[in-house]
Amino acid sequence: GVSIKNAELFRDVHEHSVRDALTGCFNRRHAFEIIDVELRRSRRSRLPLTIIMFDLDHFKEINDRFGHQCGDAVLVAVGERMRAVLRGSDVRCRYGGEEFVILLPDTPLPGALRVADTLRRDIESHPLAWQTEIITVTASFGVATIVAEDIDVAGLIGRADAALYRAKQEGRNCVRVSEEHAVA
Ligand code: GH3
Ligand code: MG
Ligand code: MG
Repeated sequence: GVSIKNAELFRDVHEHSVRDALTGCFNRRHAFEIIDVELRRSRRSRLPLTIIMFDLDHFKEINDRFGHQCGDAVLVAVGERMRAVLRGSDVRCRYGGEEFVILLPDTPLPGALRVADTLRRDIESHPLAWQTEIITVTASFGVATIVAEDIDVAGLIGRADAALYRAKQEGRNCVRVSEEHAVA
């Protein structure tokens, strides 16, 4: 009895140290560790590794208009949409306040683009009921795949981030792919 309780306690403490309570995603620190491990694995196996980075659109406006608690409820709802849409093998990370990274092991770019657009449409089509309001949230997405030169996570994340930045500039609520891949 005691050892099982201890094992459960250990698991719970570990879960709290790697997961974000609002969304159920891995936190940023743990995300870096996982991406690093997956990147090495992908280099050895030569299987593709793709990441999706997304950021909620005009999230500050939601906080300002409806309050921080509403903003938190939106984050919880986004966590639920990610669980509903993504595979168990996809790694979900909360990278910053309202910014997320999804790691798709063994997934080539076209598949990842489909996943990103499915999640984009899913988030848009599941508005949140908050008090007397119905709140529709959208998000902008950037997608990037590992290339031979990637020796650490910085390059891969940087390319996804640049694609996300273009998605914001080009109207939000859309998916953009890293330019390196678009040319290739
Ligand atoms: P954009 O479409 O360009 O991304 O606009 P934005 O308003 O989403 O971007 P900005 O970076 O200006 O605002 C992000 C906001 O997210 C600001 C911050 O207060 C809010 N935020 C970050 N973390 C949390 C959180 O845990 N809970 C809540 N409620 N708000 C958060
Ligand atoms: Mg935002
Ligand atoms: Mg942001």
